[in-house]
Order: sequence, then structure tokens, then C-alpha cells
Amino acid sequence: KKRIAVMTSGGDSPGMSGTVRAVVRQTIASGCMAFAVYEGYDGLVKGGDMIKEMGWEDVRGWLSEGGTLIGTARCAEFRERPGRLQAANNMIEKGIDALVICGGDGSLTGADKFRDEWPSLMEELVTKGLRSKEDVAPHMHLNIVGLVGSIDNDLSSTDATIGCYSSLTRICQSIDYIDATAFSHQRAFVVEVMGRHCGWLALMAGVSCGADFIFLPENPPTENWEEEMCTIVRRHRDMGKRKTIVIVAEGAHDRKLNHINPKMVKDLLSNKVGLDTRITTLGHVQRGGPPCAYDRMLSTLQGVEAVKAVLEATPETPSPVICIVENKIVRKDLIKAIQMTQQVAKDIEACDFDAAMKGRDAE
Ligand code: ATP
Repeated sequence: KKRIAVMTSGGDSPGMSGTVRAVVRQTIASGCMAFAVYEGYDGLVKGGDMIKEMGWEDVRGWLSEGGTLIGTARCAEFRERPGRLQAANNMIEKGIDALVICGGDGSLTGADKFRDEWPSLMEELVTKGLRSKEDVAPHMHLNIVGLVGSIDNDLSSTDATIGCYSSLTRICQSIDYIDATAFSHQRAFVVEVMGRHCGWLALMAGVSCGADFIFLPENPPTENWEEEMCTIVRRHRDMGKRKTIVIVAEGAHDRKLNHINPKMVKDLLSNKVGLDTRITTLGHVQRGGPPCAYDRMLSTLQGVEAVKAVLEATPETPSPVICIVENKIVRKDLIKAIQMTQQVAKDIEACDFDAAMKGRDAE
């Protein structure tokens, strides 16, 4: 029986538990054995009880749970070869050579590196006397499939990452609550949302909540943004609007990469427009809570597809990442998707915002 392991890694997102459930159950339904690696790459490096066989009922009720019930971590040891050798040894001990990873671009980069090195890791295990040739012979190829779990919706090649719509829903609900006070007192609120390199949450929250102004990392405002924002807010007020909402992504900056923070925006709205202005930093509320219906669907359909991809893979197939494009669940080249994603971050760093925006639009 083939043994398939599932792991969650990097920042948690709503829907990760549903992904584990789908992978475990599809694995069992396909006649294979399912394993869960607890606490991300930490669990893979530690081995033993951190890699557990999973039964059908072990994941019962997980579809509607927030975060990840098998834990996640950032693991420095896995970034170094000795850590990956240890991880490979632990996998061979359990007879596992197929790994489904749900995480962000860092986790998926690590996974592909692991796959790349795998044959040489097998050789090293034998030369160091940690495993016999017979132990490693059936496992000379590591099969990796990626699933993107992230609230930021920051991976190129997919329309949505697992968790982004739950987070967007939570942000919209929070802004609705803020709206009530803003309207009653005719106040302005500056709302900071997550997104260091990716403004998807800020942009979509702005569209969904009818914000007055939005600050995004990929598309910074014009050089005289202070004046522009104040003019727009004044115009909206002149039209009879009783409330003002400005959304600032965590990683917002001007066209020279000077950070734009909520305090700067608040001071402008208070001092230049004369509005009673408050700041709300939504923080980890954006990450928590149960996944919305879309993320339950996405985690289930993509988890099932990941297991199918494992079973159909050959040593020649490049590692796939499971995506959704125009409402269809599809497999894409994992490395290409990561490269495109990292290119957007590089374009932002180089202040090439046209390229960054094109990169976000690219399929
Ligand atoms: P998020 O988008 O939430 O930050 P992420 O998956 O990008 O999620 P990272 O902290 O970048 O989060 O990566 C998670 C873990 O993946 C790291 O702690 C490390 O163990 C492993 N990892 C990341 N990059 C590499 C790499 N280049 N080589 C080996 N392992 C890596």
C-alpha cells in the first residue's frame, strides 16, 4: 500500500484542517495509507510520534475548524541540509515517499528543494550507515504536491488560496461593525489589514465595503497622495457621506518604498480634513474563526485533487501545485508558480509597479 503524508506549514489559514481531512480521506478511499505530519517541517525533522497514521474518523468534523488541527511551525533546521537528511530518514522509517504540503510560497519552495535533493539524501543515508540499500531502494523518488494555504491570496497561478475568502469575509464583517460607529458619530476610521507584499485583502475589502481610499503595496498612490486622499475624502463628505473608511495594507508604502502607516493617514484626516479619526488594526482576527463555505469547498476539492496528482505522478512529472482557475481545479507547475510570485515581490522592491501589477494579473 502506498503511504501518503499530509502536512500544514507556514502561517495558518482557515481551511487548512479541511485540506488535511480531504487528503486523509481521499488517500484511504484510494486504498492507500494516510499519515499526518504534526507541527510542519518541525515534525518531519523530529519524526517519531510527530508522524502519525490517520484513520477516517480521526479527521471527523475538521471541515469547519479554523486554523490547522495538526499544527504548523516555522522550522530553521529544515532550511539546512542536515535537517532535511533527518527528515528524509524519518520518512523512510515510516515508508513514506509522497508528501502533500499545504502552506505558503516558503513552505512550497522548501518542499521542492527536498524533492530535488531526495536521491542524494537517500545515498547519504546509506553511506552514513543510517539506512540499508534495501530500505531506500523502493523510495528513490519523492513525490511532492503543493496546496496553497494563505489568507493573503498571494500565489501567482491560482485565483484563490485556501483561506483568503474567509479572511476577506471576516474583514468585511469587522468593517460593518466599525461602520455603525463611524456613521453614528460621523467619524473616520483607518483600518489596517494583513498583506505584506500582497494587497488583495485590502483591495477586495475596499471594493466590498465601499472604502473611500485604499493603500496597496503593488500599486502605491501618486506622489502627492496626501493631498489626493484628503481631496477625495472631502468630496465624499460634501456629497453627504457621514463616515469615512480608509484601508491600509500592512505593507503599504509610497512610490519610493517609504512605509505608509495608519498613524500617518489618521493625522492627515484629523489635521487636514478635520475629521474625528480612529485607527483599527484588525490583526489576527483576520486569520481565525471557521472557514467560509468557499474555503470548505476549495480545501475539499483541492485536497482530493492533490491525492489524485500523487497517484498519477511519475519521476519525470514536475511537482504540481493545485490551483483554481476560472472555477476549475487545475494542476500547475509548482516551481513556475513560486517564481512568478517571487518576481512580483522583486518588482515591488525595484519600484517597478507596472510589472508588479502585471505579475498579479498573470495566470
Ligand atoms: P506564509 O505565507 O504564511 O509566510 P510560508 O510557507 O511562506 O507561509 P515560511 O516561513 O516562508 O512560510 O516557510 C515555512 C517553513 O518552510 C520555514 O520555516 C522552513 O522550515 C521551510 N522553508 C521555507 N523556505 C525554505 C527553503 N528555501 N528551503 C528549505 N525550507 C524552507
